[in-house]
Amino acid sequence: MANIGLSIKNCRLVILEDIVNTKGKLVDNLEVETEFICKEQPDTCYHCDSSLITGVEVIGGYDGILLWECDDCGEMMLRFAEETTEKYLQLAKGLWTNPSDWGYVPRSKFN
Ligand SMILES: [Zn+2]
Repeated sequence: MANIGLSIKNCRLVILEDIVNTKGKLVDNLEVETEFICKEQPDTCYHCDSSLITGVEVIGGYDGILLWECDDCGEMMLRFAEETTEKYLQLAKGLWTNPSDWGYVPRSKFN
């Protein structure tokens, strides 16, 4: 578990495409209730009352927990305001959805 200066029980690293369809506005594609914002790790899921809450860090986005996810029902909760979350998700998108940025060569170009 990464040391991010908070007492987080569980966390996992994901890339953007693991959690959201990257077409359009990203926050809108997350299955979140944007009026629920939990700055600190929630004790229970607002949806199913489970206490199995995992912090989700999106690689290339925010350096630390960006979202919370319920391990039981999969419901996601925001840690930051909707617009802030969108900004961080867009950073992650820029990093991971443009293969030409990595010098990627399609297999068909190999001889
Ligand atoms: Zn839940």
